[in-house]
Amino acid sequence: MVKCGLEIHQQLATKKLFCECNSELSEEILYKFERVLRPTQSELGEIDRAALEESLKKRRFIYEVTPNSCLVEADEEPPHELNREALEIALKIALMLHAKIVDEIHVMRKIVIDGSNTSGFQRTALIAVDGYIDTFFGRVRIPTICLEEEAARKIEEKDGGVVYRLDRLGIPLVEISTSPDMKNGEQVKEVAERI
Ligand SMILES: [Zn+2]
Repeated sequence: MVKCGLEIHQQLATKKLFCECNSELSEEILYKFERVLRPTQSELGEIDRAALEESLKKRRFIYEVTPNSCLVEADEEPPHELNREALEIALKIALMLHAKIVDEIHVMRKIVIDGSNTSGFQRTALIAVDGYIDTFFGRVRIPTICLEEEAARKIEEKDGGVVYRLDRLGIPLVEISTSPDMKNGEQVKEVAERI
């Protein structure tokens, strides 16, 4: 018997989520900078165990700066206001999936320890809950729809270091998660194509 759920990330062809840079991938590199992960205490005064373990590896993260990355991607400037166009698209998608839009949209931070985000966390906002898609084989629930930022693009991993390009960091992503309601491959295909 098959039991399957999906998590789908869709990039949006708008400006980036927290700055005015465009969302194109780029081969042009202006300069590079380097960072290391340094675990710090959370608001509750605790140090994240995973971040602590990762910092002991002393890995170096090298970031390639492209024309479509600014001080926000470099984490040298606070994020700008959330991209209204991306938000509007996410809200439309939520309505098309019969989801209930939350009363207040808050941007939260999810810790990231692989260096794929210069800030050490990914910004994500819950947009809507309790949606669904009706398929030939029955209803598939969609418990959450989020709007979040794409990670930096991994270029290569070499001894003790990882190279990331900042062109992809901050591209708006709509994350659509389904419940594990799918019962066969045909249904999975139908849901994936519909989303
Ligand atoms: Zn930017």
